[in-house]
Amino acid sequence: MDKARFLMCAPSHYEVDYVINPWMEGNLHRASRERARVQWQGLHDALSCRATVDLIEPQPGLPDLVFTANAAVLLGCRAVLARFFHPERQGEEPWFQRWFEGQGWQVEQLPQNLPFEGAGDALIDRGGGWLWAGYGFRSELDAHPLLAQFLGMEVLSLRLIDERFYHLDTCFCPLGDGTLLYYPPAFDFHSNRLIESRISPAKRLAVEEADALAFACNAVNVANTVILNQASPGLRQRLEARGFEVVETPLGEFLLAGGAAKCLTLRLDEPQPVRAEEFGVLARPSGVATGSGAPLVAGEAAAAAGTTAPEPREMAGSLTAPHRLIRLQGHLLDSGLINQALDRIVEGGGSFQVLDFALGQQRHSPSTATIRVSAPDGEVLADLMAQLIDLGAEFVESEERDASLALVEADGVAPDDFYVSTIYPAEVRLDGLWWPVSRQRMDSALVVDRYPKGSEVSVRVECRLLRDLRAGEQVVVGVEGLRTQRRPLSREGRESDFAFMAAGVSSERRVELVVEQLAWEWRRLRERQARVVVVAGPVVIHTGAGAHLAKLVREGYVQALLGGNAIAVHDVEQALMGTSLGVDLQQGQAVHGGHRHHLKAINTIRRCGGIAAAVEQGVLRSGIFHACVSRGVPFVLAGSIRDDGPLPDTEMDLIAAQAAYAKALAGAEMVIMLSSMLHSIGVGNMTPAGVKLVCVDINPAVVTKLSDRGSLESVGVVTDVGLFLSLLVRQLDRLAAG
Ligand code: NAD
Repeated sequence: MDKARFLMCAPSHYEVDYVINPWMEGNLHRASRERARVQWQGLHDALSCRATVDLIEPQPGLPDLVFTANAAVLLGCRAVLARFFHPERQGEEPWFQRWFEGQGWQVEQLPQNLPFEGAGDALIDRGGGWLWAGYGFRSELDAHPLLAQFLGMEVLSLRLIDERFYHLDTCFCPLGDGTLLYYPPAFDFHSNRLIESRISPAKRLAVEEADALAFACNAVNVANTVILNQASPGLRQRLEARGFEVVETPLGEFLLAGGAAKCLTLRLDEPQPVRAEEFGVLARPSGVATGSGAPLVAGEAAAAAGTTAPEPREMAGSLTAPHRLIRLQGHLLDSGLINQALDRIVEGGGSFQVLDFALGQQRHSPSTATIRVSAPDGEVLADLMAQLIDLGAEFVESEERDASLALVEADGVAPDDFYVSTIYPAEVRLDGLWWPVSRQRMDSALVVDRYPKGSEVSVRVECRLLRDLRAGEQVVVGVEGLRTQRRPLSREGRESDFAFMAAGVSSERRVELVVEQLAWEWRRLRERQARVVVVAGPVVIHTGAGAHLAKLVREGYVQALLGGNAIAVHDVEQALMGTSLGVDLQQGQAVHGGHRHHLKAINTIRRCGGIAAAVEQGVLRSGIFHACVSRGVPFVLAGSIRDDGPLPDTEMDLIAAQAAYAKALAGAEMVIMLSSMLHSIGVGNMTPAGVKLVCVDINPAVVTKLSDRGSLESVGVVTDVGLFLSLLVRQLDRLAAG
């Protein structure tokens, strides 16, 4: 059998001269060229007694030329040349090109601006007959279909997510017998699933973090020898048990630049992959790697090929990664929407190309971007599209299609893949027309009802909770034919309104300032008789702010009050006995025997038959709920498992309670949430975008959760609710006096 053949480059000009990966950080000019030379020689010696080693001439100014693995990926007579991501390494390209051409390779080049870093990110699976290709840091996903074409083999894309493992070969090493040495946490969930679907458990050799950080996966495999920088005794044992001889050769100087054995070598005569079954490789699964339009196959695996690479096959449509064209419109830069969208694409395992970006010329004019989104397979692409549509992206016109519908087969159960609504106004495309969605709320299915209207058929689309679905109804599935309106159309639309308080949460923001702005806004709402709903927890009473909330109710600021059993119990206890959970709020002291007070309060209201009855009977004479009853302000108390009593008014049927909340919230223009995580989150989930939300809580996490709806209309205030309400009432009084 011919000896394997590798390409290396002596480290005569090796240096850590710049920082292009986390390993290089802090190591500028710290590598010793002498030690590097000795270590490189050690690797060269270990390799040259098992293989032929060719050398490329080192070049001054190209310190990373030693890492020949990144030069190209080779199969048969073809060399697909690298397009380096960082300008610092782009100077290597012509040197490698000249060398390959001089040696008789047919050099293939990817388009400019399509980064791909050779065998650093492209590893042939000798067992499976496909190419594992990495992306995420140095190589672009869009290069993968071209690799499939050039090499005539299936390409499986793996997304790298840990910057320390910036090239596939730093954390992934397919060995000759079909074993895979790899570090799973370096990959995203989907990639791990793909690996697991292709490589049987018996053939997967996952390394621990310590081995991964010692670059154990950056190994060179020749026949049954594995040459690497360092392996823990455990890893050595596992490899030996599989019949491998492990050769350690220290390469610490190169680790300073983020490379080791594999990076320092390029296999020139990559053996043609053999048939998968012989290696115990799993059969190609359905769904995982080949979701709609997924396979990047350019010919049967090169199994049948001899030393010459097969001609790329004609394959209509399969040579591009699954992709869609979307358009984003609005204040893309100042709203951060464009960044958000691009981050989602990358974090979701996709890749993008901004095809055009038209920046609005005037302050009020919107910007537009057309973006090509690609993904390793149809499943990932569909996930990405769902997220982008929720952000307000639309398919470009030529790609617009009608929504797909599926039948509800059983009451309360949606078809798989049903579209899950958000808080943002949505529209659905049917028969080429866009129809608005009514009763917008998050976490619902979209039910489509076609009904006759005169001589024509009209369409109604409505958000419906799962439990309210009925067999036979039609529900939107997938993401085709959907669009959401995420942002106000103009900057002015935003500025004129509530957002002057600025969305987001800040514990540092001066509470007084927010209070001043809120008071001004709330008065305006009252003047035009708009609907404001308050959600409140018992802390309002404990902090002594019950009187303030009662005043707001009495003065007509509140159109509905939502809460649980506790706020009402504590309010009644306060009204009847001057205590809240047995604590005298005037004195701030626990009252002797006071712990029974709240049960007595519950008992009193139960005897009366409810809160309204207690007011009518003259038993309850003050407090928030007295104000609600006297003023005719409706309230809903939703039950919970913690409730004592409960009060007769507390709705213990949760579905009925949710429905009552939804009814109270209908038409609300502002919702003020005061220190109740449970009820505030419940309300947040049923409130559409456009309704102004103010969330006051002492815990920043609760405020963030509630105001982080990406909506300009939410304001989070991290503060004590007692302080907040007292400042608010004082400010309203001031405005009234003014
Ligand atoms: P919750 O945990 O949902 O919310 C309390 C919130 O108040 C928390 O987010 C907390 O960070 C915040 N908070 C605490 N101190 C604050 C302060 N000084 N200023 C601002 N925010 C502050 O609890 P919940 O809404 O009180 O109760 C959950 C459920 O349990 C409700 O349905 C309630 O009615 C019920 N409950 C019943 C009883 C009872 O029947 N005796 C007693 C307590 C709670």
